[in-house]
Amino acid sequence: MSGVTVRVPAKVNIQLAVGGARPDGYHDLANVFLAVSLHDEVTVRPADRLTLTCEGPGAEQVPLDTTNLAARAALLLAERHGIAPDVHIHIAKRIPVAGGMAGGSADGAGALLACDALWGLKTPRDELLELCARLGSDVPFSLVGGAALGVGRGELLTPLEVGGTFHWVFAVADGGLSTPAVYGEFDRLTEGVRVPEPQASRALLDALREGDAPGLGAALVNDLQPAALALRPSLARTLDAGVAGGALAGLVSGSGPTTAFLTKSADAAAEVAHTLRTSGTCATTHIATSPAPGASQVSPSGD
Ligand code: ATP
Repeated sequence: MSGVTVRVPAKVNIQLAVGGARPDGYHDLANVFLAVSLHDEVTVRPADRLTLTCEGPGAEQVPLDTTNLAARAALLLAERHGIAPDVHIHIAKRIPVAGGMAGGSADGAGALLACDALWGLKTPRDELLELCARLGSDVPFSLVGGAALGVGRGELLTPLEVGGTFHWVFAVADGGLSTPAVYGEFDRLTEGVRVPEPQASRALLDALREGDAPGLGAALVNDLQPAALALRPSLARTLDAGVAGGALAGLVSGSGPTTAFLTKSADAAAEVAHTLRTSGTCATTHIATSPAPGASQVSPSGD
């Protein structure tokens, strides 16, 4: 086999409920993940040693050493099976880098699945999920896709039913935001405040199950949004522009700075994207639908 390519979706957090900082510094979360049809592709090929390349928007900000989650995934899987991690990993990047859409996590899940196929390991699914959780809190969801509720640090997943197709526009900001910096700002803003236990919203889960876009729009919530807006005040103008352009609702995606806009149809999404691009409040836009499947092998296809 000369190479294996895996396609992996980005995610949007349609609810991100954040508890107070735990003694270990992490936060308990109630995190409703939805996979969207914006993908990275990870290709692995046999090589003399572990190497990595990346192409696409923002590729110059992606580390090409063993801090890259795709390289860490290859190392972890090889170590588990006692084999050498000698692969070349190529990432075709479409997911905004440091954009709050779990691009690095997607590449970690993609590399894990691609190496597993290349090396013919057939690692059981539950073991792959356990390795994903070791790579990072968002990585298990990149493997499974669809929609899921994540609790704990977000990595303990329960799949959720989705009753229809949702149409999204993502506005990509210039430059990224560091997830630890956004959590740091969240801690600063909530200092001395009693932060409630994070809980999934019943209204949100009902709207998701019923495919009810207006209901989902009314229930979207991200507890990290005030912190992201404090660090990047210009995002408030992007949110206003998307809603003025006809979106049902807009919110910061994860830790930002990408903003996500839910629309009622594919036509409405095209209009909102046009309004956002001409508003001068974002660098670029992507239109996507959800739910999207998790990491899946696209070649060799086995046909
Ligand atoms: P999340 O939504 O999971 O918090 P994010 O979407 O905000 O993450 P990523 O694109 O995953 O952000 O990148 C965050 C940082 O991780 C980058 O600034 C980069 O230094 C590092 N990184 C490691 N591996 C990758 C990768 N494969 N792709 C992009 N960034 C990576």
